[in-house]
Amino acid sequence: MKHKDMNFDYKKYLAERKLYEAAMACPTATQNLELNTKNRDAAIKADYIKYGPLNVDEPGDYWKDIAEYWNTTEEAAKKSLCGNCVAFDISPRMDECMPGKTSDEDGRLGYCWMHHFKCHSARSCRTWAKGGPITKDSISYDWQERNSDKV
Ligand code: SF4
Repeated sequence: MKHKDMNFDYKKYLAERKLYEAAMACPTATQNLELNTKNRDAAIKADYIKYGPLNVDEPGDYWKDIAEYWNTTEEAAKKSLCGNCVAFDISPRMDECMPGKTSDEDGRLGYCWMHHFKCHSARSCRTWAKGGPITKDSISYDWQERNSDKV
């Protein structure tokens, strides 16, 4: 096939396109349970993250502790959840990356672009930041581009 631009390097174009498509594939942790579990466990343990509470119905001191850390009230802390975090991705393209059921009676799973695992909307962590969730594919791909060395 001839391209109207005779200098067009078709091989290079295809190679770049393949690289781009690979880079924009589902984040590895959505497809690899072992990696997802490793990243989630690391997010639970790290002092600067402390993802939780493990059991949303029995949170123990989780909300009290995170409220102290944020210097706010427990009520305010309980409103700062993965579900409304800037890094929580529930865009249509990410939904397609999620294997199996994504919701339960407490909320739903989404992909966390900060810590690279499937987190739950009813939980939170110390690095929560307002501005989410991510519901548009374009924003999801933008996060992926900026995290291309980690997915
Ligand atoms: S989505 Fe936000 S609050 Fe939830 S684990 Fe990721 S960074 Fe923390």
